[in-house]
Amino acid sequence: MTRYFQPHIANLAAYVPGEQPGAGETVVKLNTNENPYPPSPAAVEAMRALDADRLRRYPDPTATAFREVVAGVLDVPLEAVIAGNGSDEVLTMVLRAFVGPGDVVAYPVPTYVLYRTLTEIQEGVAVEVPCDEDYRLPADDLVKAAADVTFVASPNSPSGTSYPAEQLANLAGRVKGVLVVDEAYVDFAAADALDLARTRPNVIVLRTLSKGYSMAGLRLGFGVGDPSLLAGLGKVRDSYNVSAVACAVGAAAFADQAHKAANAEKVKASRARLAADLAGQGFRVWPSESNFLLVRPPAGDAERIYRALKAGGILVRYFKQPALDDKLRITVGTDQQNAALVQALKGLL
Ligand code: PMP
Repeated sequence: MTRYFQPHIANLAAYVPGEQPGAGETVVKLNTNENPYPPSPAAVEAMRALDADRLRRYPDPTATAFREVVAGVLDVPLEAVIAGNGSDEVLTMVLRAFVGPGDVVAYPVPTYVLYRTLTEIQEGVAVEVPCDEDYRLPADDLVKAAADVTFVASPNSPSGTSYPAEQLANLAGRVKGVLVVDEAYVDFAAADALDLARTRPNVIVLRTLSKGYSMAGLRLGFGVGDPSLLAGLGKVRDSYNVSAVACAVGAAAFADQAHKAANAEKVKASRARLAADLAGQGFRVWPSESNFLLVRPPAGDAERIYRALKAGGILVRYFKQPALDDKLRITVGTDQQNAALVQALKGLL
């Protein structure tokens, strides 16, 4: 079969998302950084109120109703916002627009593995710049890569590290090409870099409704940046990329900032408690500005613990790759879910 494919697609290692339990399976799911709390009641109401005729017709190709809410809340022009089928789709647009065969894409590692997959699809060259033990931003090496696109996830996954806006501003002024600041987890962080998207012509900030807004199933994300950059992304966007449902429900969800903020506060409080409990059990716990914790079990036997937890109905994320294979990434759940995890670990360590 591979003879039908372009060679670089035949050789591509497909991105593997975290496992999702089958229908009816009950697990404590702490593996894919979903929000443990329900979405805004206003969003649920918007979904119920959706007129079926909206499904018969094609949606607004540029998701204006959603973008208007985003532009209003973030105080940016409408043309400075582009919507996507999850922020994943905005990442795809970035790669399609800026990267062709041989072009360079740089990012610190470990990070979101999809950056590499999307680069390889474009036949670009991925320059992966290793972080140190504390996951500091390797700015000089990123600049040296002279990349056409530089990705920095802030907060980063799986480390949970957030980078100060001044560091990212400095980087934006030094990179050769476009700097994409992926703020998928920003709702759980103390600061953000949105101002760079307002002021720097080469910066795009990505956000999602999957984490802070509890809507990973809706598939809705967006990019903020200079309107002329975004106009170029718009050319490589799939037509009708945001469904009528996502546009209407997402607009209501994003308008309810209070609901998002209240849930984020709950997650952050639980994050601190879980971090203390795990540290008490001898785990090394990296500081996190996100809705997950990167931890190293006392004996470094992360794979064994991952498997044993899974057998007991608790899913956490294990990455079988260098520098991560002795660690686990644990999504912060409700206090009840976190307590179940801590209890299960007692028997395993
Ligand atoms: N960026 C990072 C760093 C992520 O971890 C994720 C979620 N896996 C995404 C982007 C994509 O999120 P979504 O497509 O759900 O908006």
